[in-house]
Amino acid sequence: MTVAAAPPRVATHCPYCALQCGQWVDRTGAVDGREFPTNRGGLCQKGWTSGALLHHPERLTTPLVRPARAAPLGPVGWDAALGHVVDRIRALQAEHGPDAVAVFGAGGLTNEKAYLLGKFARVALRTSQIDYNGRFCMSSAAAAGNRAFGLDRGMPFPVTDLDDAEVVLLAGANLAETMPPLMGHLSGARLVVVDPRRTPTAERAVASGGLHLQPVPGTDLVLALGLLHAAMADGHLDAEYLTERTTGFDEAWRLAAQWWPERAERVCGVPAADMRTVVGWLAGATRRYVLTARGAEQHAHGVDTVTAWINLALALGLPGRPGSGFGTVTGQGNGQGGREHGQKSDQLPGYRSITDPAARAHVAGVWGVDPDSLPGAGRSATELLAALGRSGGPKALLVFGSNVLVSAPNAGAVAERLAALDLLVVADVLPGETAMAADVVLPVAQWAEEEGTMTNLEGRVLRRRRALDPPPGVRTDLEVVSGLAQRLGFDGFPADAETVFDELRAASAGGIADYAGISYARLDAGEALHWPCPEPDHPGTPRLFTERFAHADGRARLVAVDHTPSAELPDAEHPLRATTGRVLVHYQSGAQTRRVAELAGVVPESFVEVHPDTAARAGLVDGEWARVVSRRGAAQARVRCVPSMRLDTVFLPFHFGAEQAANLLTNPALDPVSRMPEFKVCAVRLEPV
Ligand code: SF4
Repeated sequence: MTVAAAPPRVATHCPYCALQCGQWVDRTGAVDGREFPTNRGGLCQKGWTSGALLHHPERLTTPLVRPARAAPLGPVGWDAALGHVVDRIRALQAEHGPDAVAVFGAGGLTNEKAYLLGKFARVALRTSQIDYNGRFCMSSAAAAGNRAFGLDRGMPFPVTDLDDAEVVLLAGANLAETMPPLMGHLSGARLVVVDPRRTPTAERAVASGGLHLQPVPGTDLVLALGLLHAAMADGHLDAEYLTERTTGFDEAWRLAAQWWPERAERVCGVPAADMRTVVGWLAGATRRYVLTARGAEQHAHGVDTVTAWINLALALGLPGRPGSGFGTVTGQGNGQGGREHGQKSDQLPGYRSITDPAARAHVAGVWGVDPDSLPGAGRSATELLAALGRSGGPKALLVFGSNVLVSAPNAGAVAERLAALDLLVVADVLPGETAMAADVVLPVAQWAEEEGTMTNLEGRVLRRRRALDPPPGVRTDLEVVSGLAQRLGFDGFPADAETVFDELRAASAGGIADYAGISYARLDAGEALHWPCPEPDHPGTPRLFTERFAHADGRARLVAVDHTPSAELPDAEHPLRATTGRVLVHYQSGAQTRRVAELAGVVPESFVEVHPDTAARAGLVDGEWARVVSRRGAAQARVRCVPSMRLDTVFLPFHFGAEQAANLLTNPALDPVSRMPEFKVCAVRLEPV
């Protein structure tokens, strides 16, 4: 009897989150877990079922064009589709100028795509109007990290360092649902979870002998100030570390001194005794970490909120100390690399600033253009979407890897802005909500069908490898961008991923995120390379800040921050606070996971978690549909009565579209520094449908 040989399999990484778990994928599209330090062979349900997307019956396999705004989308060839896009770009830019065309990228795009998209916008389109959906999920942590440490790498240490942690404080991070394999690295630690909801991660905290701190949404900063006050009052500060490695404590303390735990409790609702207990645990352990995520960041004062957590970590002497640290758990698959290589409106490759003359000169040199020809900083993502189709705003939008009709705040207004455009072009894998609203849809390859690199939450650069060919008729994003650039008259936009990466290395050389020494050959040989890696023989930098921080004087900065109320507070008409987040089986806008039967079967529709008494007051019972109404719109969700919910708070997942989109409710109020919207709190009321 002969046994059929298993199809050869390729080592790659999961298409979803920033943990970038190791995967095997064979040429049939079958997925298996692969031993890798972040996941140790395990995958979450999303990773295990990701192969279902490769041969999905709804795959987009031919370009679609809408001949007129009201006409249906119809199939066309690639030449016709790209030619149509370029004709429209030329006409709109001739009439309105270069900024009439905007580009919207994503934190899930490979480093190569993010880089080429930024270059395409600045060189081929000459537009300043480019930003990306990372503005929705990482920009506040990035700004706070830059301000405090002089450098933004979410986790400045490998996640395996967490294996030995004794105490870990997770502020606004629901890792048990968003990154289950990461919880395996925390299994030996006492956990403290800060979250308005009793999430599965909060349950694990209690089971670990730790605590769940349940603040009022929008008051996390007060809690962090109260903890700093408790640390000071109880003699837990690391005075030697503060003197030798930081500046700014006195100024930060002047504001924190006003937030003794009992006063902080009155605002945030967390018992003062719990604050003292937690700082005692953190101070009493040798190996301890503070980690933040979207719950701390997605506020109109998210940068200050993250800063308050950093101040606490610095006061306790954690960052840069072996076995301890501060980190931010990046969310999207390439949330780290996606914010380093130029798809952000104020940025050039290598984490360079677009307003820095030396940075412009370096990158222009690599691109072979005059530095003066590069546009300046454009609008941030939310502001860009709000300007679409308006006088002085972009008339055309090219979207890669993002589903803004579901994921952007105040989604109803975003739909109006997209409808006001002269041209909406969407490159996508599946017919997501934004793609189906487009004038031109370009079908592109997905993770297991393409080459490239991703940079995971640790700042480690990883190889994404092609296991199988894309369906006939489908092109890679790099081929799409290259084809558009060629038709606009520009060479120098290669479609080969390694060629693009080699150019990215040169463009990043000497920058903060320096990839110059990282090559496909080194990665394929199995080297673990974390940036900065400036030379081909440099070993990379798995741990940052062990000797000095990245500011010129080598010291970290404590920055004075104080509480500011959320941009929108409850009133008689909207008496509840709504907060949004993720569930285990869905990812981001759900455009992929809602189409995987095994995942959609678990959570098929939106829901609103609410305390039973709050539901009863609104005339609702468990299992009924409710209307959740904010000042911007209403969303429908099935009622889930959850006794652990705060009486003043409801929760909705943001994975659903159309009338179930949680972002119909959310407030587009922006952080003044990061321009990140306030997804985590808005005022709502509940009504029966
Ligand atoms: Fe994929 Fe993230 Fe799940 Fe790992 S934790 S399998 S990277 S979605």
